Amino acid sequence: MQEFIDQLPKLAKDKHNENKKFFAKLKKKPPKKLDETMQVLHEEEFERTDCLECANCCKTTGPLFTDRDVERIAKFFRMKPQKFEETYLRRDEDGDLVLQEVPCTFLGADNYCSIYEVRPKACREYPHTDRKKFQQISNLTLKNVGICPAAYNIVEKMKAML
Ligand code: SF4
Ligand code: SF4
Repeated sequence: MQEFIDQLPKLAKDKHNENKKFFAKLKKKPPKKLDETMQVLHEEEFERTDCLECANCCKTTGPLFTDRDVERIAKFFRMKPQKFEETYLRRDEDGDLVLQEVPCTFLGADNYCSIYEVRPKACREYPHTDRKKFQQISNLTLKNVGICPAAYNIVEKMKAML
């Protein structure tokens, strides 16, 4: 798995133009059963891929934190939301709340998330490959194939199938 993760940025770069064209086509004319197809591809991939062997998303990129995420996680730590924000988060150039550093502070050496039950919504949904109207997040997916081995495999399968 680690070898594949290490190769991902280059693999994604090599596939970038091909993927871009594919998503442009998909956006123009999405197949009727795209939502169902994505659900199947997502489930099949995550039956094979163990996120605990990977955690590359937590190591290399962080989630955006919504106000609800901040409130929920602060409550878990028995902290005031403001204090939680000051301790762990910062505003990025777009004004979004993000982690002060990656790898994520809440990631353990065993790849377990120490706030798993209350983790941000974006972490729960990553890499968004079972999302409805998947064609609408093509720019995000083009980025995610260089980070997430599962997303990379899913996009390769999509191209072969659709
Ligand atoms: S979601 Fe993707 S990048 Fe994150 S741990 Fe799972 S396989 Fe790895
Ligand atoms: S909060 Fe948990 S799931 Fe989200 S990036 Fe950090 S360690 Fe990963």
